[in-house]
Amino acid sequence: MATTIEQAEAPHQSFDTLLVLDNGSQYSHLITRRLRELNVYSEMLPCTTKLGDLAFKPKGIILSGGPYSVYDPIAPHVDPAFFELGVPILGVCYGLQEIAWRVGKENVVAGTEREYGHAIITAQRHNDHVDRLFKGLEDGMQVWMSHGDRLAALPEGFVTIATTTNSPFAGIAHKEKPVYGIQFHPEVSHTPRGTDLLRNFAIDICGAESNWSMPNFIDKEIARIRKLVGDKAQVLGAVSGGVDSTVAAQLMKTAIGDRFHAVLINNGVMRLDECTQVQQTLQQHLGINLTIVDGSELFLGRLKGVTEPERKRKIIGETFIDLFEEEAKRIEKEAENTPNAGKVEWFLQGTLYPDVIESLSFKGPSATIKTHHNVGGLPARMMNGQGLKLIEPLRELFKDEVRDLGRQLGIHDDLVMRHPFPGPGIAIRIIGEVTPERVEIARKADHIYISMIKEAGIYNEMSQAYAGLDTSKAVGVMGDNRVYGYIIILRAVTTTDFMTAEPYDFDHSLLKRIATRIVNEVHGVSRVTYDITSKPPGTIELE
Ligand code: GLN
Repeated sequence: MATTIEQAEAPHQSFDTLLVLDNGSQYSHLITRRLRELNVYSEMLPCTTKLGDLAFKPKGIILSGGPYSVYDPIAPHVDPAFFELGVPILGVCYGLQEIAWRVGKENVVAGTEREYGHAIITAQRHNDHVDRLFKGLEDGMQVWMSHGDRLAALPEGFVTIATTTNSPFAGIAHKEKPVYGIQFHPEVSHTPRGTDLLRNFAIDICGAESNWSMPNFIDKEIARIRKLVGDKAQVLGAVSGGVDSTVAAQLMKTAIGDRFHAVLINNGVMRLDECTQVQQTLQQHLGINLTIVDGSELFLGRLKGVTEPERKRKIIGETFIDLFEEEAKRIEKEAENTPNAGKVEWFLQGTLYPDVIESLSFKGPSATIKTHHNVGGLPARMMNGQGLKLIEPLRELFKDEVRDLGRQLGIHDDLVMRHPFPGPGIAIRIIGEVTPERVEIARKADHIYISMIKEAGIYNEMSQAYAGLDTSKAVGVMGDNRVYGYIIILRAVTTTDFMTAEPYDFDHSLLKRIATRIVNEVHGVSRVTYDITSKPPGTIELE
C-alpha cells in the first residue's frame, strides 16, 4: 500500500505520536480515535511489530485488548524491546495482562467467571507518580469490563491504583517506571470518562503535544505533496462526488493546481443529476481540472442480463478501469504537448485510515472479513500497467477528520456531510438485473426519499440512507385497475464505523408520506417497504 517515500514524510515524523500496539481487540482502533479527538496524533500497528521496524520514536505506547489469553502457547506477545525504550506504557485488558505476565508467568490466570459489562472504580492514591493516571477522576467512575482472565497477584514492582468489587487489580502502576495497566476499556463509550484517563496518559504522563488538528495537517500535507510530486509531474485521480475523493482532489488542487487531473466516469448507475452536481462543485466551485467521461451506455450494455451481485460488481469495476486507462493515456498525451508539463507519474487514491487499519490489524481468532465497495483492481492496474506511483493523502485520517479537512478546504457542508455511496452505485441497490428502466425508477424514488429526509432536517442523524428496488413485482390497485409494480425498499441506518449498524428510528407518519409520494410520482412502483434489519446479520447495501 504505502510507498517508502510516503512513509518518510508521514505525520508521525512531524507530530508527537502515540503508538497503539493492537493485540486483536475489536476496540483497538477506538483507542487511536480517542487520542486523535484529544488532538494527540496516534497510529496503530499490529502487536507483532518489532521495535526495529518502527520508522519513528513514539511518545508513548498503548497495548490494546485482545481475544487470546496471555498464557496460551499461541498468544501473541509484544517485542520486549518496547519495554526498554523508556517511554510510558499503558496496557489495556490483554495489555495489562501482558505487562503482568512478562514480570511473572504465574501472575495471570483464567477467572472462574467472565466479567462483562459495567463496573465501578475505586481509585487507590499513593504518590504523585502512580496517581497520575487517575488524576481528576473521582471514585465511583463507571467503566466497561470485558475479560475472562484475571491478575492472580500484583506483579513485582507494581502497586494497585484501582479496584472494583470483582477486580482487585482493576488498575496497576509500576512504582518507579511510567508503566500502567488497566483491566477495563477506556476507549469505549460505556466508560464515560475514559477519554479523561487517556488524556492523563497521553498528555500528562507521555508529555505529548496536543497539536494534531486539520489546519496543522493541511500545511504539512501540502508541503509533503509538493515535495513528493516535484514541480513537473502530473497526477491523475478518479472522483465520484463522494466526500473522500472530493477532499483528496481539493487537497491536490491546492498543492499542485492544474497538474492534478480529476476524472469522473459516469457509469450509468449514479444518482439523479449527480454528474451535473459533481461538475458544479468540483469544476465551477472548487476550480478543479475535471474531465467527465460518459460511459453510461457501455456500462448498462455490459450489465444487461446479469443478475449475480459479484458479477455486477466485477463488470462495473472492469469497465471503469477500461475507460479510466483510456483517459489516462489521453491526458498523458496532452500533457506531453504543453511546454511546462511533465509526465503523469502519480495516481491519487482516497484511501482512509480505517482501510489501512483493516489491513494492519492483528487478526485474532474472531477475525471478520470486510468486503469493500470500492472499485477493485484499479490501483494495481494503474501502477503496473501505466507505471504510476500511488499517492494517498488521506491514508492517516479517519472519516470525521476527512470531513473536518473538507470544511477547512472550503468544501460545502452539504457535500462534506454526504452519506457514503458505493462505487457500483445503484446497480447493487437493485436486486436482480439492472435495466435502464429500473435504474430510472430507483433513482427517482431515491431522490424523493432523500429530499424528504433533508426537508425533515434528519439527514445528518442517519449515517446512510437510500431507496433500493426489488425486481419482483407486487400487485396494486390504481385508478380501479390492478397493476403490477416494483417494490421499493427504503433503508436508513445509524452507525459510527459501518461495521455494525442499526435501522434508523423513523417517524411513522413521515415514512407514510414518503411512501405515498413515491407510489404517486414514480411510475412502475406499487409498494414501498422499510428495511428494519440491523447489521449484522443484514448489510447496509442490498447486494
Ligand atoms: N482475552 C483476555 C481475557 O479474556 C483479554 C480480554 C480483553 O483484552 N478484552 O481476559
